[in-house]
Amino acid sequence: MGTPIGNLDDMVPRAIEVLQSVHFIAAEDTRRAGQLLQHFSISTPTLAYHDHNEASASELLIERILKGQSVALISDAGMPLISDPGYSLVRLARKKAIEVLVVPGPCAAILALCASGLPTDQFGFYGFPPAKTAARKNWYSELSARTETLVFYESPHRIVGSLMDAADSMGSDRPASLARELTKKFETWYCGSLEEVRHRIESEDHAQKGEFVLVIAGSEEQPAEDSEIERLMKILVPEMGVKKAAASVAEILGAKKNLCYQIGLELREGLRGDAE
Ligand code: SAM
Repeated sequence: MGTPIGNLDDMVPRAIEVLQSVHFIAAEDTRRAGQLLQHFSISTPTLAYHDHNEASASELLIERILKGQSVALISDAGMPLISDPGYSLVRLARKKAIEVLVVPGPCAAILALCASGLPTDQFGFYGFPPAKTAARKNWYSELSARTETLVFYESPHRIVGSLMDAADSMGSDRPASLARELTKKFETWYCGSLEEVRHRIESEDHAQKGEFVLVIAGSEEQPAEDSEIERLMKILVPEMGVKKAAASVAEILGAKKNLCYQIGLELREGLRGDAE
């Protein structure tokens, strides 16, 4: 279940009810959970569930659940499983046909995406970029041709390096939004090109402190394969119609038939230029 990522007023009433009513709470850090529980006067016992004991703790929790006990899983902040432990427990519970319900709460990635001003119809969440520069540059390069909006978590001591590597790999003018300290007193947004965002973060006092979500616009360049499909479909659609043309082009290029068909439809509807 979700818990606040900074502002305790974001705790939803159902989360409080569930935490009060379960037999125990599996928490990433029992001390941090203690502070949250104390704030809401919840006295349910806690049990440690973190990266280092995820597998064994999941087995233990499942055993307890099978004996009739109920458990709520929380992480330090936000939604568990999103760059946080929990996946093995949920997977195991599903495998054993144990009921899993979700109590929603804030998730930094989704909040940042929604207020970024960048397209939200398609997006990818990639968690934390690699810590070392060479690996990180490589990683951003591999993502640079993706057309959906890209969402990353980043730590305060790596944010400048990460912005530099992203700009090197994706182009310094690629639009981005950097969200700092979401839902907290010093929530700040840095929007502009990757270069502009880095410049502000480097030059403003305290800007490199706190928690960050980096949202980067997807590439506007068409993948090479798409343009080749489009070129052939433009020739073949007027001759044989979308369906047959898609089958032929898929065979010639070894491309997906669905993709060729989709491009053919867009050409016919004038969304990609003229098919005649
Ligand atoms: N499970 C959490 C969620 O649902 O957002 C994320 C946990 S992950 C270990 C922690 C990272 O999330 C931070 O390093 C930061 O990148 C991002 N994050 C968490 N809270 C944030 C906040 N209030 N403002 C900006 N980023 C935040």
